[in-house]
Parts: sequence; structure tokens; C-alpha cells
Amino acid sequence: METKQFKAESKRLLEMMIHSIYTQKEIFLRELISNASDAIDKLYYKALTDDSLVFAKEDYTITIIPDKDKRQLVIRDTGIGMTREELEENLGTIAKSGSLAFKQENEAEDGRDLIGQFGVGFYSAFMVADVVTVVTKPFGSDVAYKWESRGIDGYTIETIEKETVGTEITLHLKADTEDESFGEYLEGYRLKQIIKKYSDFIRYPVQLEEIEREKAEGSEEYAEKKVLKTVNSMVPIWRKNKRELTDEDYANFYAEKHYGFDKPMKHLHISADGAVRYQAILYVPEQMPFDYYTREFEKGLELYANGVLIMEKCADLLPDHFSFVKGMVDSEDLSLNISREMLQHDRQLKLIAKNIQSKVKKELETLLRDEREKYETFYGAFGRQLKFGLYNDYGMHKDVLKDLVLFYSSKEKKLVTLAEYVGRMPEEQKYIYYASGESVERLDKLPQTERVADEGYEILYFTEEIDEFAIQMLVEYDGKPFKSVTSSDLGLPEAEATDQKDHEDLFLAMKEKLGSDVKDVRASVRLKTHPVCFSTDGAVSIEMEKVLRAMPNAGDVEAVKILEVNTNHPVFAALEKAHAEDEAKFGRYTKLLYQQAQLIEGLPIEDPAAFANEVCELMI
Ligand code: ADP
Ligand code: MG
Repeated sequence: METKQFKAESKRLLEMMIHSIYTQKEIFLRELISNASDAIDKLYYKALTDDSLVFAKEDYTITIIPDKDKRQLVIRDTGIGMTREELEENLGTIAKSGSLAFKQENEAEDGRDLIGQFGVGFYSAFMVADVVTVVTKPFGSDVAYKWESRGIDGYTIETIEKETVGTEITLHLKADTEDESFGEYLEGYRLKQIIKKYSDFIRYPVQLEEIEREKAEGSEEYAEKKVLKTVNSMVPIWRKNKRELTDEDYANFYAEKHYGFDKPMKHLHISADGAVRYQAILYVPEQMPFDYYTREFEKGLELYANGVLIMEKCADLLPDHFSFVKGMVDSEDLSLNISREMLQHDRQLKLIAKNIQSKVKKELETLLRDEREKYETFYGAFGRQLKFGLYNDYGMHKDVLKDLVLFYSSKEKKLVTLAEYVGRMPEEQKYIYYASGESVERLDKLPQTERVADEGYEILYFTEEIDEFAIQMLVEYDGKPFKSVTSSDLGLPEAEATDQKDHEDLFLAMKEKLGSDVKDVRASVRLKTHPVCFSTDGAVSIEMEKVLRAMPNAGDVEAVKILEVNTNHPVFAALEKAHAEDEAKFGRYTKLLYQQAQLIEGLPIEDPAAFANEVCELMI
């Protein structure tokens, strides 16, 4: 028996391995099972070229045996085993991967399915074990070897007897400490949980040895019996043929994976074979997760590299506007980093993400077209996120999202798409009109909508804070610009603008009384029955002013307001009279009208008590 030192750089790496590369200790089992699966794969590839070797899949298994008495966990495989040189090379040198070399030697296709490539996974065993023993018999040899190591100190290799080809790794688990239990890796339920979580779709059976107690026939005594139970499901649902799967299968998978407690509204099974190969099962949930619009919500899809779980929430796979999508992606084309918790390059990931985005978009468009009611339920939960998406990144995603958003229509009295709106526009209508406010009920009564509605035009009601911001990013739809009904220039056929000239003096006097509170006072072109309202100039509307002002550090953004007066309203006659006869009264009336316009907009008035008193004065 010889004792060997790890190479110096290996020592440092080992140290790193044990203490910092992995965030969760339980992944040691994933690594060892992956290695076992790779070893069986290698035998399988050998069988492809070696006629003397018949590969019968049933004979190839991975077995996990916990032994509480000895505090040992054994991982056994019937794979290709390791020669002495391979033991030295692959286990004696950290960051040396026999699997990677195998892939490089064996052209293209053959090694494609192998998981290993960094030559560090094996050492994760030292996170949970103080002694690791590897007994291995390589294919085509009569001799077997025992490799043993206590970590940093180095390792020993000796020859040993072993009947069958393959490898058996024994972990002597560390003693439990106050805040860490290693003994849990001997509990059947825990092992099952870890295997299910990370290795469910390893192609070979992963069997767990369990002890069953049974009464022997004719005896009252219980006898203990060891049984092997296959834990993993092996063929992942995403590799199955879509046609063989039912909606229920997809719903079961959704529940099994704990993607949500609801039922999925839609599922999407992708098998992409283009620039990047990947399979995915994606879901649009029916219900909004309770924390969806909070900071706590984390978007992401499960990411598998060739059937092995790499990341539980890979955020890069989903754009923010589709952050509600749940599900998983499996690809054999990923280059992983050393811990296999992250990806080395994000090029493949970007390609997959792009592809997923367009598939989800298409799926939602189909839902909108074919199952409107369902889409509206979806939109009720996640529509706001789509609108955020329009606004975010300077409107970069507008082409993805502009046909997915819905707004309430003043005419249809229901949610409509922008395409539907534009499709119904009379020829002379230049703009897509909208009004923003707190609720549909309130907007229905908004004075500023009168003229546009009178023209027979449809108005979109914006009732969420994000709406107007999103639409500003969009600028136009199908060549038709958006226009707020409160905008100073409505783009309607010329109305009696002459009123303005007839009363120039009066408006100037009003403007003087109001000072910098308004930019201008004008004869209204949009009011029919109401006496006053505001309109705005420029990009910031009154609704936007409210939203922006509610934000911390908003500064003093202000909508440029114009007070519009309805010259056909009886109150105007009173105003004219005051203007001619009583300067003080004229001032009070002007102020009152201004405050009314504020109230209509839901803006706070500076001194509500004084306003109330003024109104009372008029009543006495
Ligand atoms: P990786 O799997 O990334 O190559 P590991 O540290 O997990 O790195 O394993 C190092 C190497 O040891 C593997 O590439 C493989 O050649 C060899 N090896 C590990 N476990 C086994 C096993 N059960 N059977 C055969 N060879 C193994
Ligand atoms: Mg490995």
C-alpha cells in the first residue's frame, strides 16, 4: 500500500471545495450519482464498438445503501470502473476530469450525454464525510483497487478483491455538530428527497436499500429484510412524446414540482432542435402567487443540464414581463461552471431565453384569440406585469407586448386590444384617445371626455398607475399616436375657437388671478355640460403627476395645467358679470372654478375649509 500526497494546487482546491464552492451540502449525492451514471454511460459507449460486450440496460444500476450502525453511506454502480492510473489521474488530481477527456477523445455524439467535466464533483463528498473509500474494478481487468482518503492528508491506493466490474464509494459521515446534522444522510426519507430533487431523471435506476420488517410465516417474530427500491422516475416527462401525454400528466408534474398550488391555466411543451437544443415544460399559472407584485417574488425556471438539476430558479431564462411563467428547461448544450450551480457562458442561455420568450408570446396570443375569457382571467392576474414590461428598458419590449395588453373601452364597456380599437377607428380619427383616472366609474363621468365621446370616438380608460407610462413608451400603435382626452390639443375638427378671442380680456384677467398655478386660461373645446376642467400641455398628465409625486425623491414634477372654461355654461355669464362689475367677486369666482377643476381631477385643494366656506357664502 502506498500513501500519496495530493498535488499542492490540489490541496488548495480541495480546501475550497469543502468550504466554499457549493452552497448546499446535500448536492454531494447529486455529484456521486452523476459520476455513477457517467460511468455506466461509458460502458454503454464501449458496448457500441466492442462486440464482446453486451449492454443490457437492466443490469446497470446505481445503488444507495445507508448503514446507521456504521454511520456509512455507500454509493455503488455497475459502470466502467477505474484503473489504477485512472484513480491516480482522476481522483488523485483535483480538477482533472476523466469524463471530459473521454468526451474529447470520443468524437462528437458519443460522449454527449456525460455529465462530468470539471473534475471536482467527487470531492464534494468531503463536505459530509471525513473518510472516503473507493473500491473499483475496471472493465476488462481482473484486479480491483481500493482508494482511500481523509481529505487534505492525501490518499492511499492498494489492490483488493472485488467480484464485479464497477465502483463502490463509501462515505464515513462526519459527526453531527450543534448546527449541522450529517446523520440525516442515513435517513431513507431524506435520501429519497435528495435523489428525487436532483437525480430524478438519471437514465439508470437509482435504488435505495431499505429495511422492511416482516412476520415470517407461522411465526410471531418480525424478521428484518433488506429491499431495494427504485427512487428515480428515469424518463423525464419533457423527453416524452407530447402526443403520449395528457393534460393531467402536465398538471401532475406541475403539482409534483411544487410550481404552484393552483392548477396551471396553460402548459407549453417545447422540444427545440435548432441553434440550441433544449426541452422545456412551461406553465402559465391560473392564480397570481400571493407575493407576485412584491420584492420577495423571485422569477425563474428550473434548469437541468442533461437531466440533472443545476439551478432551481434560473432568472436569466425569463424576461421580467413573463416572470409569472413556471416550469423547467433541460439542455445538453450548457457549459457549466465548476460548482455546476452557475453557467460558464450565457450565450446558450440567452438563446434559450429568447426562444422561450417568443414561444410564450405566441402561446398568449393564441389564448387571447381562441379563449378570450381565459385570457382575461390571466390578464386580471398578470396584465399589470405586461404593462410594466412595455414601460421597462425604455420600451425595448414593445413589439413583444403591444398585442397582449388590454384596456377598458368607453364604448364596448369591456376590455379591448389596441388592434381592436384601431380596427374600429373612423377614417378621420387621428388618435387613439385615452383617459386616466382611478376607476371606470369615475372616468365615465370625467368632464374632459365629453367632446371626444360626442365625436363618436372610443376612449380607452386607464385605471392603473402604470398605464399611462406604458403607453408613453409605446407612443403609437399601428401608426396612430395616443392622445389623452385632457391634452390641450385634442386634434378634433376645429370647434368654436372664436370664443377665445371674444373673451380674451376675461381669460387674461383670470390667468392673472391664478398666477403660476396654470399656464393659461382658455375657452374649452371639449366641455359640453360641465363648467370647467383642466387640460395639460406636454408629456406629464395630471394622473402621472400624482403617481410621480407619490414616489420618494420625485422632486416637483408638475403637469402643465390649462384651466378650460365652458363659455356656454350659465356660470360663465355670472363670471362675465363679475368681471365687468366687481373685481373682488371675480377673483373669488375664478378661484372657486379653479378649485372645482382640482376636485374633478382628484387633486387636493390647498385649503378645503376655506373652499367649503366660500361655497356656503354663495348659498346664503
Ligand atoms: P467530473 O465528473 O466533473 O469529471 P469528478 O470529480 O466528479 O469530476 O470525477 C472525476 C473523475 O473521476 C471523473 O471524470 C471520472 O473519470 C472518475 N470517476 C468518478 N467517479 C467515478 C465512478 N463512479 N466510476 C468511474 N469513474 C469515476
Ligand atoms: Mg462528476
